[in-house]
Amino acid sequence: MKMPQIPMPDADGYFGQYGGQIIPPALKQVMDEIAAAYYEIRDTPVFQNELRELQRHYIGRPSPLFHARRLSEKAGGARILLKREDLNHTGAHKINHCIGEALLAKHMGKKKVLAETGAGQHGVALATACALVGIPCEIHMGQVDIEKEHPNVTKMKILGCDLIPVTRGTATLKDAVDSAFEEYLKDPVNSIYAIGSVVGPHPFPMMVRDFQQIVGEEAREQCLAQERALPDVITACVGGGSNAMGLFTAFLDDEGVRIVGVEPAGKGLDTPDHAATMALGTPGELHGFKCYTLQDAQGNPLPVYSIASGLDYPAVGPQHCFLKDIERVEYTTATDDECLDAFMTLSRLEGIIPALESAHAVAYAMRAAAEMSPDKTILVNLSGRGDKDADFVAERLSL
Ligand SMILES: *Cc1c(COP(=O)(O)O)cnc(C)c1O
Repeated sequence: MKMPQIPMPDADGYFGQYGGQIIPPALKQVMDEIAAAYYEIRDTPVFQNELRELQRHYIGRPSPLFHARRLSEKAGGARILLKREDLNHTGAHKINHCIGEALLAKHMGKKKVLAETGAGQHGVALATACALVGIPCEIHMGQVDIEKEHPNVTKMKILGCDLIPVTRGTATLKDAVDSAFEEYLKDPVNSIYAIGSVVGPHPFPMMVRDFQQIVGEEAREQCLAQERALPDVITACVGGGSNAMGLFTAFLDDEGVRIVGVEPAGKGLDTPDHAATMALGTPGELHGFKCYTLQDAQGNPLPVYSIASGLDYPAVGPQHCFLKDIERVEYTTATDDECLDAFMTLSRLEGIIPALESAHAVAYAMRAAAEMSPDKTILVNLSGRGDKDADFVAERLSL
């Protein structure tokens, strides 16, 4: 379907009926100040130049677009191209928006950047950006996750961030969000909460998308230069949806390009152990915005699960919800087993160990490529590298 020619989001932060600011008035005022500061600086040459310099010489952009020949051959059909976000500094796409958020915090004169982290990926990327920009950073993390994610915990400490262990509730991600948010509410004037995906109240879904948009802009140009055509299909995994919006945005007006988001089906859509928000969710509210959510009859978020801890979120960014409803983007799923198979196949055929999150998109690409002819191309956003998952996979598969 053709994209509507209206700017997204609207002035109140809505993408169609999704998004917005479902938050107390005091917090709305703070969010509006963040939005105003962002609008004020985003198109200024000073901010754009600083961001571009850091993208190039710090993150290492542009990331390559790699034709995975042996993987394509194995899938047996379309050519598979990988956008190598795994080669960014810190090993994933998250650094793209963390740098942007840290620069914005500095511009606004904030004294502290706050956030939660689950597996530690967002925490490490944010601690990195804050070290670079020179702003104190405080990360809240569940005690259970702290014990599980040792390398990321160590990295955050080395990078100089204040790591706050959270012991309440189940001592995992949701409790870390609650804890970080409480801390933020104590002084929202001098601190800023740096959200880790295209979720939360306006302006975060828009800002994080804008900072990630470089991924698709580069990929589109690279594809035209290397393949002399646009890709037939583009795909990315969807947790909150930031790496997917990063890739998709530049292609939304290209009517001939099919766009597919891949959610985790975990142990199967017929079990409770998945995080397939688009496939099985219904419109609701979570963390200050409207979106599809996995919820019970009372509107409480359901427990979710994925082998990839970066994907187990019971909601999804508001623009994705809108793109699903207008049928511009299709959403499908890959199971844990398909993900593990893609993880091993990409490692052994191309020498690239992907993040388990990214392996969901690779799994879909292999499935889809088999149904397409060899003159077609599928472009996959390889959102991150799999160092963090290597020990887990080796144990799980008894390697
Ligand atoms: C965090 C993470 C994701 C999931 O987040 P999105 O906002 O959906 O992109 C995907 N891939 C990697 C490597 C991650 O670290």
